[in-house]
Amino acid sequence: MDKIGVVEALVATALELEPSITAFTQKMVGIASENPPGKAYGECAAVLGQELRSMGIAHRVFDSGAPTPYPRYCLLGEYGTGSPLIYFHGHYDVVPACSPDQFTPRLDGRKIWGRGSADMKGGLAAMLGAIKVLQATGAPLGGRVGIVLVPDEETAGPAGTPYLISNRLIDRAALGMFMPECTSGIVWNANRGAISLRVRVRGKPAHVGLHFQGVNAFEKMTEVARRLFVLGREVGARQTAYSITPAAARNSILLVGGRVEGGTNFNLVPGECTFTVDRRINPEEDLTKERQRLLDLLDQVRRTGTDLDVETLQEGESSGTPEHQPVAATLSSCIEAVTGRAPAFEMCPGLCEIRYYASLGIPAFAYGPGLLDVSHGPAEYVEADEMCRAAAVYAFLAMRLLRGAGA
Ligand SMILES: [Zn+2]
Repeated sequence: MDKIGVVEALVATALELEPSITAFTQKMVGIASENPPGKAYGECAAVLGQELRSMGIAHRVFDSGAPTPYPRYCLLGEYGTGSPLIYFHGHYDVVPACSPDQFTPRLDGRKIWGRGSADMKGGLAAMLGAIKVLQATGAPLGGRVGIVLVPDEETAGPAGTPYLISNRLIDRAALGMFMPECTSGIVWNANRGAISLRVRVRGKPAHVGLHFQGVNAFEKMTEVARRLFVLGREVGARQTAYSITPAAARNSILLVGGRVEGGTNFNLVPGECTFTVDRRINPEEDLTKERQRLLDLLDQVRRTGTDLDVETLQEGESSGTPEHQPVAATLSSCIEAVTGRAPAFEMCPGLCEIRYYASLGIPAFAYGPGLLDVSHGPAEYVEADEMCRAAAVYAFLAMRLLRGAGA
């Protein structure tokens, strides 16, 4: 079969599998795997395991043993044998619902509505759908697809992908990693890193009439904030070479005061004020260096007599794989073959699990069904056609990268 014939057969098979892909999406959306707290992780992992078994895919389940009230399970499966290896990676946790009915999936025409339909249970259904397409078409693979299913992505928790990495369960010899996040038709080949802090500034409370007996924590806080704004202007002048729209989004970020709290009433000298600092680093910046820069600044203020402490809310590396890298080019040509249009490559504006694989030297990309704009929102949905197209893209990608006959 020529290339066009192969792609047509994959797309036709994916469309035939649509009832199975949409049914599995609905089943998954019906499980409230909200993170936090992760209460339904066990049920969700069991359904994923059942699906893999029904597909004849052997898999292992790892309980990360994290000291949380609910167990955290990672599933590792394999389709095909030998080398090379590529990873299909997805997360099964979702952000908390805006209303409980988001866990009652609704199929309305060509759309499935519900929490996690776009981010990313529809993506998981498409990714596993790709394996079903390969099985149904009997496409021989000269290698294997590692299937990785993790919790805790939404909170960047240590019990998901970091657990697999630190236990050497991800093979750094893999050719590539693909993750079906809802990327609105584009490919994310890079992501920003993050260092998010909460700064607590302490003063001494006093009644307004006896204000001279107090120390105004708000006044102290404004001095810390002023210095951070100066640093913010400096880092805000740095731009990434990775694509991101609009152009202003290329600049590195230091957001001061996303959340501010303090004081108790107008007639009391505030005894304590807190505010957040959210530093988002570009792939060209170094997390360790940028963290140190922030902590040094806060240390300097502390040495001038301001009583403050710092709490780290989250931290994650940036990453990037050039869009002209060979695996990126293959991904692009597979998307073009299925959808008729070459995708744009852009940097994900937030943290993204591609960073864990990129840190092992594995070219890593996110591409999947659904719109980023609707994820995490009250009206989240995914379209059946997009899931089928993504399944065909992933199937073709496996054939091309693992050099199956006819690819
Ligand atoms: Zn996601």
